[in-house]
Amino acid sequence: MFEVILRRIRELSESTRDFQFVRQDGQQLDYKPGQFYRFVFEDDEGEFERSYSLCNYEDLYGDTLDLVISRVVGGRATRLLFNCSEGLTAKVTGPFGRLVLPEVDPGRLIMVATSVGLAPYMPMLRELETREISKVVLLLGVRDRTEFIYGDLLRRYAGSHDFFDLRFCISREAPVADDEFAGYVTEQLQALAPDPDSDHVLLCGNPAMIDDAWGYLKELNFRPKKVVREKYVFAREKKAASSALTDDQKKLIAEKMKKYS
Ligand SMILES: Cc1cc2nc3c(=O)[nH]c(=O)nc-3n(C[C@H](O)[C@H](O)[C@H](O)COP(=O)(O)OP(=O)(O)OC[C@H]3O[C@@H](n4cnc5c(N)ncnc54)[C@H](O)[C@@H]3O)c2cc1C
Repeated sequence: MFEVILRRIRELSESTRDFQFVRQDGQQLDYKPGQFYRFVFEDDEGEFERSYSLCNYEDLYGDTLDLVISRVVGGRATRLLFNCSEGLTAKVTGPFGRLVLPEVDPGRLIMVATSVGLAPYMPMLRELETREISKVVLLLGVRDRTEFIYGDLLRRYAGSHDFFDLRFCISREAPVADDEFAGYVTEQLQALAPDPDSDHVLLCGNPAMIDDAWGYLKELNFRPKKVVREKYVFAREKKAASSALTDDQKKLIAEKMKKYS
């Protein structure tokens, strides 16, 4: 475990900000691009933990942890992080997670994200510059163009790396550029005609999207180790005893669990 302090906050869109934390122990980061860390924050009710993928792009292995976080209505971390200033501290453990680049280069790598599920792919893009993967496709699902976080950077990367194909999938606006497509990432995934023998697929973000995409890939005979999935599931408070919940709260939780299962 190490301590971090918040050095910079930037607004990326109405609902999304990036947060740069700095390690206080003088050590450098040691992780694989794509992994996440667990952050223990403290608010007026005490300590609580949330997981965040590292989104580092400029500096991968220094002493800074870049996070991109979207607002969740009524969320505890949201309340703290979207109302704090520089100087906020947290305790951090990690790295964790299996959403990393495959050791052996696949014929094609397909990276799929919804919204801030893009985060783990940002450091991976830097690592890809040192690899020999002949084709990489990133499908990024957003509702509208305000959610094109890092859109300019991704388009510049696509313009300067021949192996990289970028497809924005927009569900609530009409596409206007060559790299924009109407609808959901799952539709674009189908359009790519994934090949279970040569493709490797990474899925990150909304749990419902991941279930849909994985369901489709299973039908194509993809083996589980060729499809690495990371769901941005909501946190369950460890300390909240179920007996302390009201019937309405229990019903709400049961509905959420049903939605995400
Ligand atoms: C491995 C991992 C990596 C993650 N990385 C990131 C990241 O890089 N960026 C990021 O923004 N988030 C990420 N998350 C999600 C993050 O950990 C928090 O769950 C998120 O920030 C919401 O926390 P909160 O305290 O504001 O909301 P909570 O207090 O946890 O939730 C408040 C209410 O909103 C509901 N809720 C919470 N999240 C969602 C959601 N996504 N959609 C719909 N309802 C929801 C809950 O059921 C609850 O009722 C990651 C999660 C995991 C498991």
